[in-house]
Amino acid sequence: MTSTSCYQCHAETEITIINFADGEADSLRLRLKDFPLRECPAGHRQFVRPDFAAELLYHLTEEDEPELPAGKEKGLILKKYLCQSCGEALEPKPDHRHTFSIEVRLEDLDPFGVDLSMPVYKCSACEKEQLHSLKEVRKLTPAAMAHAFEAANIPPPPGVL
Ligand SMILES: [Zn+2]
Ligand SMILES: [Zn+2]
Repeated sequence: MTSTSCYQCHAETEITIINFADGEADSLRLRLKDFPLRECPAGHRQFVRPDFAAELLYHLTEEDEPELPAGKEKGLILKKYLCQSCGEALEPKPDHRHTFSIEVRLEDLDPFGVDLSMPVYKCSACEKEQLHSLKEVRKLTPAAMAHAFEAANIPPPPGVL
């Protein structure tokens, strides 16, 4: 058995690109686009490599999400969100949902897309639209990503629950 053998039937797998797979967690919708995976002749699917999910999660939460416009969270119990640019309070209600498209480049793979769709809030003073906070989107990303993997029929690698 090599690293590219199917975990379930041990046949050789090949890289396949799927059009998209969607996952949701609370207010975050995540879509994987032109997404690479491995598939065996029997149609069993797995990640392109065992640590792929961890790599992608790290890339999204550490590199891509910090680039998104997001307010600052204040207060432990009664949370307030302050504008990233001018520090005034954000409007209490979201303005609309915005989709942020990210191109992900991971070693040895063609770039693929991840869309993150979340409500955006306008600043009450300068009107800049932004997410509530980076902390919030980071917290929701693992579950939304796991649901997208489920939608793509990729089970967790053996030994991982
Ligand atoms: Zn198989
Ligand atoms: Zn502002």
